[in-house]
Amino acid sequence: MTSYLSHLECTICGAEYPSDRLSGVSPCCGKVLYARYDLPRIRAEVDRDRLAERTPNMWRFAELLPVDDPDNIVTLGEGGTPLMELKNLEQALGVSNLYVKEEGLNPTGTFKARGIAAAISKGLELGATGFTMPSAGNAAGAAAAYCARAGLSAKLNLVDGLIGDAGRQAVAVAQEQGLFDLSTLKEPYRAEGKKSMGLELAMQFGWRMPEAIIYPAGGGTGIIGMHKGFLELLELGWIKGDLPKFIAVQAEGCQPIVKAFHEGKDTAEPWPNATTVADGLRVPGPFADYLMLHAIRDTGGTALAVSDADMIAAMYELATAEGIFACPEGAATLVGYKRLIAEGFLRKDETTVLFNTGSGYKYLQLIEGVKG
Ligand SMILES: *Cc1c(COP(=O)(O)O)cnc(C)c1O
Ligand SMILES: [Zn+2]
Repeated sequence: MTSYLSHLECTICGAEYPSDRLSGVSPCCGKVLYARYDLPRIRAEVDRDRLAERTPNMWRFAELLPVDDPDNIVTLGEGGTPLMELKNLEQALGVSNLYVKEEGLNPTGTFKARGIAAAISKGLELGATGFTMPSAGNAAGAAAAYCARAGLSAKLNLVDGLIGDAGRQAVAVAQEQGLFDLSTLKEPYRAEGKKSMGLELAMQFGWRMPEAIIYPAGGGTGIIGMHKGFLELLELGWIKGDLPKFIAVQAEGCQPIVKAFHEGKDTAEPWPNATTVADGLRVPGPFADYLMLHAIRDTGGTALAVSDADMIAAMYELATAEGIFACPEGAATLVGYKRLIAEGFLRKDETTVLFNTGSGYKYLQLIEGVKG
Protein backbone atom coordinates (compact mmCIF):
# COMPACT_ATOMS: atom_id res chain seq x y z
CA MET A 1 0.00 0.00 0.00
CA THR A 2 1.93 2.96 -1.25
CA SER A 3 1.22 6.03 -3.31
CA TYR A 4 1.45 5.92 -7.09
CA LEU A 5 1.84 9.69 -7.22
CA SER A 6 3.83 10.55 -10.34
CA HIS A 7 3.86 14.33 -10.79
CA LEU A 8 1.94 17.57 -10.36
CA GLU A 9 0.10 19.28 -13.20
CA CYS A 10 -1.13 22.84 -13.77
CA THR A 11 -4.91 22.87 -14.20
CA ILE A 12 -4.68 25.81 -16.63
CA CYS A 13 -1.89 24.96 -19.08
CA GLY A 14 -1.05 21.33 -18.30
CA ALA A 15 2.60 22.05 -17.41
CA GLU A 16 4.10 19.24 -15.33
CA TYR A 17 6.16 19.51 -12.16
CA PRO A 18 7.96 16.98 -9.98
CA SER A 19 6.00 15.74 -7.00
CA ASP A 20 9.00 15.33 -4.67
CA ARG A 21 9.01 18.90 -3.41
CA LEU A 22 6.54 20.91 -1.41
CA SER A 23 4.34 22.87 -3.83
CA GLY A 24 1.67 25.53 -3.64
CA VAL A 25 0.04 27.07 -6.72
CA SER A 26 1.42 26.39 -10.20
CA PRO A 27 4.55 28.48 -10.93
CA CYS A 28 3.43 28.96 -14.58
CA CYS A 29 -0.13 30.25 -14.13
CA GLY A 30 -0.47 30.85 -10.40
CA LYS A 31 -3.52 28.57 -10.26
CA VAL A 32 -4.42 25.12 -8.93
CA LEU A 33 -1.94 22.24 -9.22
CA TYR A 34 -3.34 18.70 -9.40
CA ALA A 35 -1.59 15.61 -8.11
CA ARG A 36 -1.31 12.99 -10.87
CA TYR A 37 -0.83 9.26 -10.44
CA ASP A 38 0.56 6.41 -12.52
CA LEU A 39 -2.91 5.08 -13.28
CA PRO A 40 -1.84 2.41 -15.83
CA ARG A 41 0.44 0.88 -13.18
CA ILE A 42 -2.33 0.96 -10.53
CA ARG A 43 -4.61 -0.72 -13.05
CA ALA A 44 -2.06 -3.48 -13.56
CA GLU A 45 -1.02 -3.94 -9.95
CA VAL A 46 -3.96 -3.14 -7.66
CA ASP A 47 -7.10 -5.22 -7.24
CA ARG A 48 -10.06 -2.94 -6.59
CA ASP A 49 -11.93 -5.62 -4.68
CA ARG A 50 -9.20 -5.93 -2.06
CA LEU A 51 -9.71 -2.34 -0.89
CA ALA A 52 -12.90 -3.22 0.96
CA GLU A 53 -10.90 -5.56 3.23
CA ARG A 54 -8.65 -2.78 4.50
CA THR A 55 -9.10 -0.65 7.62
CA PRO A 56 -12.18 1.49 6.92
CA ASN A 57 -10.67 4.95 6.78
CA MET A 58 -9.62 7.09 3.84
CA TRP A 59 -6.11 5.60 3.74
CA ARG A 60 -7.55 2.40 2.29
CA PHE A 61 -7.16 4.37 -0.96
CA ALA A 62 -3.44 4.95 -0.30
CA GLU A 63 -2.46 4.21 -3.89
CA LEU A 64 -4.56 7.19 -5.03
CA LEU A 65 -3.43 9.50 -2.22
CA PRO A 66 -0.21 11.51 -2.25
CA VAL A 67 1.70 10.21 0.81
CA ASP A 68 4.61 7.91 -0.19
CA ASP A 69 5.65 6.41 3.14
CA PRO A 70 2.80 5.04 5.29
CA ASP A 71 4.88 5.98 8.36
CA ASN A 72 4.32 9.64 7.45
CA ILE A 73 0.54 9.39 7.69
CA VAL A 74 -0.93 11.58 10.44
CA THR A 75 -4.33 10.10 11.15
CA LEU A 76 -7.22 10.37 13.57
CA GLY A 77 -9.29 7.79 11.68
CA GLU A 78 -10.76 10.14 9.06
CA GLY A 79 -13.04 8.81 6.35
CA GLY A 80 -14.94 5.55 6.21
CA THR A 81 -18.15 7.46 6.94
CA PRO A 82 -21.57 5.86 6.47
CA LEU A 83 -23.72 6.13 3.36
CA MET A 84 -27.34 5.83 4.50
CA GLU A 85 -30.61 5.64 2.63
CA LEU A 86 -33.11 8.19 3.99
CA LYS A 87 -36.11 5.86 4.12
CA ASN A 88 -38.32 8.07 6.28
CA LEU A 89 -37.76 11.13 4.13
CA GLU A 90 -38.27 9.06 0.99
CA GLN A 91 -41.67 8.10 2.30
CA ALA A 92 -42.56 11.61 3.41
CA LEU A 93 -41.47 13.14 0.09
CA GLY A 94 -42.75 10.37 -2.19
CA VAL A 95 -39.28 9.71 -3.65
CA SER A 96 -36.82 6.82 -3.73
CA ASN A 97 -33.06 6.25 -3.83
CA LEU A 98 -32.24 9.22 -1.61
CA TYR A 99 -29.02 8.88 0.43
CA VAL A 100 -26.89 10.88 2.79
CA LYS A 101 -23.13 10.65 3.14
CA GLU A 102 -22.62 11.43 6.81
CA GLU A 103 -19.35 13.37 7.03
CA GLY A 104 -20.24 14.73 10.46
CA LEU A 105 -18.76 11.54 11.93
CA ASN A 106 -15.22 12.54 10.96
CA PRO A 107 -12.63 13.56 13.59
CA THR A 108 -13.32 17.21 14.59
CA GLY A 109 -16.85 16.81 13.21
CA THR A 110 -16.48 17.76 9.55
CA PHE A 111 -15.19 16.41 6.23
CA LYS A 112 -12.37 18.98 6.51
CA ALA A 113 -10.48 16.27 8.41
CA ARG A 114 -9.88 14.36 5.17
CA GLY A 115 -8.13 17.17 3.33
CA ILE A 116 -6.16 18.36 6.32
CA ALA A 117 -4.95 14.83 7.14
CA ALA A 118 -3.70 14.44 3.55
CA ALA A 119 -2.06 17.87 3.39
CA ILE A 120 -0.36 17.74 6.78
CA SER A 121 0.90 14.20 6.17
CA LYS A 122 2.28 15.08 2.74
CA GLY A 123 3.58 18.44 3.92
CA LEU A 124 5.59 16.82 6.72
CA GLU A 125 6.84 14.13 4.33
CA LEU A 126 8.23 16.86 2.07
CA GLY A 127 9.87 18.82 4.87
CA ALA A 128 7.29 21.34 6.10
CA THR A 129 7.86 22.28 9.74
CA GLY A 130 4.58 24.11 10.40
CA PHE A 131 1.33 25.11 8.74
CA THR A 132 -0.97 28.12 8.44
CA MET A 133 -4.40 28.68 6.91
CA PRO A 134 -7.38 31.02 6.81
CA SER A 135 -10.59 29.41 8.03
CA ALA A 136 -14.19 30.11 9.05
CA GLY A 137 -13.63 27.54 11.80
CA ASN A 138 -14.00 23.97 10.58
CA ALA A 139 -10.79 23.73 8.58
CA ALA A 140 -8.69 25.37 11.28
CA GLY A 141 -10.24 23.12 13.92
CA ALA A 142 -9.13 20.13 11.88
CA ALA A 143 -5.71 21.65 11.23
CA ALA A 144 -5.16 22.26 14.95
CA ALA A 145 -6.10 18.67 15.78
CA TYR A 146 -3.86 17.13 13.11
CA CYS A 147 -0.97 19.43 14.06
CA ALA A 148 -1.35 18.29 17.66
CA ARG A 149 -1.43 14.69 16.48
CA ALA A 150 1.81 15.34 14.57
CA GLY A 151 3.41 16.88 17.67
CA LEU A 152 3.23 20.45 16.35
CA SER A 153 1.69 23.37 18.19
CA ALA A 154 -1.23 25.42 16.86
CA LYS A 155 -2.03 29.08 17.35
CA LEU A 156 -5.31 30.90 16.57
CA ASN A 157 -5.39 34.50 15.28
CA LEU A 158 -8.89 36.00 15.17
CA VAL A 159 -9.40 38.25 12.13
CA ASP A 160 -12.22 40.77 12.08
CA GLY A 161 -13.32 40.26 8.48
CA LEU A 162 -14.07 37.59 5.90
CA ILE A 163 -12.07 34.55 4.87
CA GLY A 164 -10.27 36.52 2.15
CA ASP A 165 -8.92 38.91 4.81
CA ALA A 166 -7.71 35.96 6.86
CA GLY A 167 -6.17 34.53 3.67
CA ARG A 168 -3.99 37.62 3.19
CA GLN A 169 -2.75 37.29 6.78
CA ALA A 170 -2.04 33.60 6.25
CA VAL A 171 0.18 34.41 3.26
CA ALA A 172 2.08 37.00 5.31
CA VAL A 173 2.52 34.63 8.27
CA ALA A 174 3.62 31.82 5.95
CA GLN A 175 6.36 34.01 4.47
CA GLU A 176 7.46 35.46 7.80
CA GLN A 177 7.64 32.20 9.70
CA GLY A 178 8.39 29.71 6.94
CA LEU A 179 5.07 27.90 7.36
CA PHE A 180 3.31 25.92 4.64
CA ASP A 181 0.09 27.66 3.55
CA LEU A 182 -2.88 25.27 3.46
CA SER A 183 -5.33 27.81 1.92
CA THR A 184 -8.08 26.07 -0.04
CA LEU A 185 -6.72 24.73 -3.35
CA LYS A 186 -3.55 26.83 -3.09
CA GLU A 187 -1.69 23.57 -2.54
CA PRO A 188 -2.35 20.25 -4.29
CA TYR A 189 -2.78 17.88 -1.32
CA ARG A 190 -5.98 18.84 0.51
CA ALA A 191 -8.15 18.17 -2.56
CA GLU A 192 -6.69 14.65 -2.65
CA GLY A 193 -8.03 13.94 0.81
CA LYS A 194 -11.45 15.32 -0.21
CA LYS A 195 -11.30 13.15 -3.29
CA SER A 196 -11.57 10.14 -0.99
CA MET A 197 -15.26 11.03 -0.42
CA GLY A 198 -15.93 10.17 -4.06
CA LEU A 199 -13.79 7.02 -4.01
CA GLU A 200 -15.63 5.85 -0.91
CA LEU A 201 -19.01 6.63 -2.41
CA ALA A 202 -18.22 4.56 -5.52
CA MET A 203 -17.06 1.68 -3.32
CA GLN A 204 -20.13 1.90 -1.06
CA PHE A 205 -22.43 1.75 -4.08
CA GLY A 206 -20.70 -1.47 -5.20
CA TRP A 207 -18.35 0.35 -7.62
CA ARG A 208 -21.06 2.36 -9.25
CA MET A 209 -21.71 6.06 -9.15
CA PRO A 210 -24.93 7.72 -8.01
CA GLU A 211 -26.86 9.77 -10.56
CA ALA A 212 -26.66 13.04 -8.66
CA ILE A 213 -24.60 14.50 -5.83
CA ILE A 214 -25.87 17.56 -3.99
CA TYR A 215 -23.03 19.30 -2.23
CA PRO A 216 -22.84 22.53 -0.17
CA ALA A 217 -20.12 24.38 -2.04
CA GLY A 218 -17.83 26.96 -0.48
CA GLY A 219 -14.19 26.86 -1.56
CA GLY A 220 -15.00 23.93 -3.82
CA THR A 221 -12.64 21.20 -2.64
CA GLY A 222 -15.42 18.63 -2.22
CA ILE A 223 -16.90 18.99 -5.69
CA ILE A 224 -13.53 19.39 -7.37
CA GLY A 225 -11.92 16.53 -5.47
CA MET A 226 -14.78 14.09 -6.05
CA HIS A 227 -15.00 14.97 -9.75
CA LYS A 228 -11.26 14.33 -10.07
CA GLY A 229 -11.60 11.08 -8.14
CA PHE A 230 -14.39 9.71 -10.34
CA LEU A 231 -12.39 10.52 -13.48
CA GLU A 232 -9.44 8.57 -12.03
CA LEU A 233 -11.69 5.60 -11.22
CA LEU A 234 -13.09 5.66 -14.77
CA GLU A 235 -9.58 5.72 -16.20
CA LEU A 236 -8.66 2.79 -13.95
CA GLY A 237 -11.66 0.88 -15.26
CA TRP A 238 -12.86 0.43 -11.66
CA ILE A 239 -16.20 2.08 -12.49
CA LYS A 240 -18.12 2.64 -15.71
CA GLY A 241 -20.86 4.94 -16.92
CA ASP A 242 -21.83 8.58 -16.62
CA LEU A 243 -20.49 10.86 -13.94
CA PRO A 244 -23.09 11.93 -11.38
CA LYS A 245 -24.59 15.37 -11.90
CA PHE A 246 -22.73 17.67 -9.52
CA ILE A 247 -25.19 20.05 -7.92
CA ALA A 248 -23.77 22.93 -5.89
CA VAL A 249 -25.88 24.46 -3.15
CA GLN A 250 -24.85 27.85 -1.79
CA ALA A 251 -26.36 30.34 0.66
CA GLU A 252 -28.55 33.20 -0.61
CA GLY A 253 -26.21 35.59 1.19
CA CYS A 254 -23.11 34.27 -0.59
CA GLN A 255 -23.70 32.64 -3.99
CA PRO A 256 -20.88 33.56 -6.38
CA ILE A 257 -20.89 30.13 -8.08
CA VAL A 258 -24.68 30.06 -8.53
CA LYS A 259 -24.56 33.46 -10.22
CA ALA A 260 -21.61 32.59 -12.47
CA PHE A 261 -23.19 29.26 -13.42
CA HIS A 262 -26.49 30.81 -14.48
CA GLU A 263 -24.75 33.62 -16.35
CA GLY A 264 -22.74 31.05 -18.31
CA LYS A 265 -19.42 32.37 -17.00
CA ASP A 266 -16.24 30.33 -16.50
CA THR A 267 -15.16 32.26 -13.42
CA ALA A 268 -17.05 33.91 -10.56
CA GLU A 269 -17.03 37.50 -9.38
CA PRO A 270 -16.48 38.04 -5.65
CA TRP A 271 -19.82 38.16 -3.79
CA PRO A 272 -20.19 41.48 -1.95
CA ASN A 273 -21.06 41.62 1.79
CA ALA A 274 -21.24 37.86 2.19
CA THR A 275 -23.42 36.73 5.08
CA THR A 276 -24.77 33.32 6.10
CA VAL A 277 -24.91 31.21 9.26
CA ALA A 278 -23.34 28.39 7.24
CA ASP A 279 -19.68 29.15 7.93
CA GLY A 280 -18.41 26.71 5.30
CA LEU A 281 -20.40 28.52 2.59
CA ARG A 282 -19.13 32.00 3.44
CA VAL A 283 -16.51 32.02 0.68
CA PRO A 284 -17.19 35.12 -1.46
CA GLY A 285 -14.31 34.65 -3.92
CA PRO A 286 -13.33 30.98 -4.29
CA PHE A 287 -9.84 30.61 -5.77
CA ALA A 288 -10.83 27.49 -7.75
CA ASP A 289 -14.09 28.90 -9.17
CA TYR A 290 -13.16 27.73 -12.69
CA LEU A 291 -12.72 24.11 -11.57
CA MET A 292 -16.00 24.07 -9.64
CA LEU A 293 -17.92 25.54 -12.59
CA HIS A 294 -16.27 23.03 -14.91
CA ALA A 295 -17.26 20.07 -12.71
CA ILE A 296 -20.87 21.26 -12.53
CA ARG A 297 -21.17 21.84 -16.31
CA ASP A 298 -19.15 18.79 -17.33
CA THR A 299 -21.61 16.55 -15.49
CA GLY A 300 -24.88 18.25 -16.46
CA GLY A 301 -25.36 19.53 -12.92
CA THR A 302 -26.67 22.83 -11.67
CA ALA A 303 -26.27 25.35 -8.87
CA LEU A 304 -28.85 26.91 -6.57
CA ALA A 305 -29.02 29.07 -3.47
CA VAL A 306 -31.08 28.54 -0.31
CA SER A 307 -31.93 30.83 2.58
CA ASP A 308 -30.48 30.51 6.08
CA ALA A 309 -33.99 30.06 7.49
CA ASP A 310 -34.66 27.13 5.14
CA MET A 311 -31.31 25.55 6.09
CA ILE A 312 -32.11 25.74 9.79
CA ALA A 313 -35.60 24.32 9.24
CA ALA A 314 -34.00 21.44 7.31
CA MET A 315 -31.60 20.78 10.24
CA TYR A 316 -34.69 20.09 12.37
CA GLU A 317 -36.28 18.07 9.58
CA LEU A 318 -33.26 15.76 9.19
CA ALA A 319 -32.96 15.39 12.95
CA THR A 320 -36.62 14.53 13.56
CA ALA A 321 -37.17 12.40 10.44
CA GLU A 322 -33.88 10.49 10.41
CA GLY A 323 -31.97 11.18 13.63
CA ILE A 324 -29.22 12.90 11.67
CA PHE A 325 -27.98 16.10 13.29
CA ALA A 326 -26.67 17.94 10.24
CA CYS A 327 -24.75 21.19 9.98
CA PRO A 328 -26.63 24.00 8.16
CA GLU A 329 -24.46 23.40 5.08
CA GLY A 330 -25.52 19.75 4.98
CA ALA A 331 -29.15 20.61 5.66
CA ALA A 332 -29.02 23.03 2.72
CA THR A 333 -28.65 20.06 0.39
CA LEU A 334 -32.05 18.72 1.49
CA VAL A 335 -33.61 22.09 0.72
CA GLY A 336 -31.94 21.99 -2.69
CA TYR A 337 -33.08 18.42 -3.32
CA LYS A 338 -36.73 19.24 -2.61
CA ARG A 339 -36.61 22.24 -4.91
CA LEU A 340 -34.98 20.29 -7.76
CA ILE A 341 -37.61 17.54 -7.43
CA ALA A 342 -40.39 20.15 -7.49
CA GLU A 343 -38.87 21.81 -10.55
CA GLY A 344 -38.41 18.47 -12.30
CA PHE A 345 -34.62 18.84 -12.60
CA LEU A 346 -34.29 15.57 -10.67
CA ARG A 347 -36.53 12.55 -11.15
CA LYS A 348 -38.20 11.17 -8.04
CA ASP A 349 -36.31 7.88 -8.36
CA GLU A 350 -32.94 9.34 -9.33
CA THR A 351 -30.17 7.95 -7.09
CA THR A 352 -29.11 11.08 -5.24
CA VAL A 353 -26.57 11.61 -2.48
CA LEU A 354 -26.86 14.56 -0.12
CA PHE A 355 -23.59 15.49 1.54
CA ASN A 356 -23.85 16.29 5.19
CA THR A 357 -20.41 17.87 5.42
CA GLY A 358 -20.39 18.34 9.19
CA SER A 359 -22.05 17.78 12.51
CA GLY A 360 -24.82 19.97 13.89
CA TYR A 361 -22.92 19.87 17.20
CA LYS A 362 -20.60 22.50 15.75
CA TYR A 363 -23.57 24.86 15.29
CA LEU A 364 -25.49 24.61 18.55
CA GLN A 365 -25.97 28.38 18.53
CA LEU A 366 -28.52 27.83 15.75
CA ILE A 367 -30.68 25.52 17.85
CA GLU A 368 -33.47 27.08 19.83
CA GLY A 369 -33.09 26.84 23.57
CA VAL A 370 -29.42 25.89 23.44
CA LYS A 371 -26.83 28.32 24.78
CA GLY A 372 -24.12 28.45 22.11
C1 LIG B 1 -15.78 24.00 4.34
C2 LIG B 1 -17.14 23.50 4.42
C3 LIG B 1 -17.97 23.39 3.28
C4 LIG B 1 -17.55 23.81 1.89
O1 LIG B 1 -16.47 23.08 1.45
P1 LIG B 1 -15.86 22.93 0.02
O2 LIG B 1 -15.82 21.47 -0.24
O3 LIG B 1 -14.47 23.45 0.08
O4 LIG B 1 -16.69 23.65 -0.97
C5 LIG B 1 -19.21 22.82 3.44
N1 LIG B 1 -19.66 22.43 4.67
C6 LIG B 1 -18.90 22.54 5.78
C7 LIG B 1 -19.47 22.10 7.08
C8 LIG B 1 -17.62 23.07 5.70
O5 LIG B 1 -16.88 23.16 6.80
ZN1 LIG C 1 0.17 26.66 -16.04
